[in-house]
Amino acid sequence: MVTRYCHRCKVPRILVAEHTWGPNGTIVLSRDPTHRMVIIDNVALTNILDSISSRIGIPLDEIIVEAKRKSGRHFMDALLSGVKGVIARNLISARVYQQMSKQVSMLGLGHAEVVSYKRHRFLEGIAADVYSAPALAGDICGAFESVERCRAVARFEHRENGHVRIQISRTDRQRSEYEDRFVYRPQPALPGDNIFELCPVCKAPLELGRQYAFDMDRGLIHEVKTGHRAVLTGVMTLNNLFGELEKELGEEIPHSIMTIEKERVKEVITGKEKALDFSEAGYQRFMKTLRLRGMGNGRNVTMTGGHVEVRVDNPYYEPLVAGFLAGFYEVATGEPAVVEWTPANQGYTDVSLSPAQ
Ligand SMILES: [Zn+2]
Repeated sequence: MVTRYCHRCKVPRILVAEHTWGPNGTIVLSRDPTHRMVIIDNVALTNILDSISSRIGIPLDEIIVEAKRKSGRHFMDALLSGVKGVIARNLISARVYQQMSKQVSMLGLGHAEVVSYKRHRFLEGIAADVYSAPALAGDICGAFESVERCRAVARFEHRENGHVRIQISRTDRQRSEYEDRFVYRPQPALPGDNIFELCPVCKAPLELGRQYAFDMDRGLIHEVKTGHRAVLTGVMTLNNLFGELEKELGEEIPHSIMTIEKERVKEVITGKEKALDFSEAGYQRFMKTLRLRGMGNGRNVTMTGGHVEVRVDNPYYEPLVAGFLAGFYEVATGEPAVVEWTPANQGYTDVSLSPAQ
């Protein structure tokens, strides 16, 4: 019998079948390589959203639901294109949601069950171990809009036992083009030549099973070393969410996100006993973490005095990559850094780190 998890490396077989780890620091959907995925620390993501929320003094729930609704619909539209979509939309829409709840678990977003469903009208579900209530509500709302081909609104409420009830209902309220605009356009990925050591049984990168523990019944992925929860999410989705935050809250958002990530990385690496290797080789080793997670491909590092220039190909989000590198810099030098980065219009970002004085 084929089990759900590989007996050798313990990674879910479906996860390996549906994703491809590229040699260029990216993870893509096997059936649609234009959709890029990333493994992100959910504690860090929650921390970013909470920190922004408390800085500006308002909850971000509405922005998160909206951003996720748009990217969720965009994602399902792509998945349901062609004949498959016609069948799904006309014959088996109820089954689409069951299938979707399996996807939710596989990606580590929690465990969701359909409670009631009426075609073209509403969808109600109960979810446990949810990675983020507004994010999941937005994800499901976007999928509903795509499957049912209508506009919908999402409501969610926290119940006892940490459960979340999510209700999606059709709305006849018109939206402007602007409200439905999808902001993020992905760049074509640059090639790379990293080689992962693969599990001989299931062909997953061996590091994946070493670094992460998977529970597909509860929809949980944990990083073994930190105990932090991790989720697999679309790069497009993440960029769209941060893009919406920037649009709503101002241009300083990317810099805030960089700073929050920098502080998190500092906390993670400060506790280590071994002194950091502040050299070009040390940076290269540190950046290997990015590849397995699909965050990008660290390339050149040049150090001149206290100044460090790093090029990262295919960064999943430039400010987060910059924050990741800056955290290492500040712990290694014991000094605050001036952090700058270039937008990855050509597929790469140049991150520049220098002493503050
Ligand atoms: Zn395996």
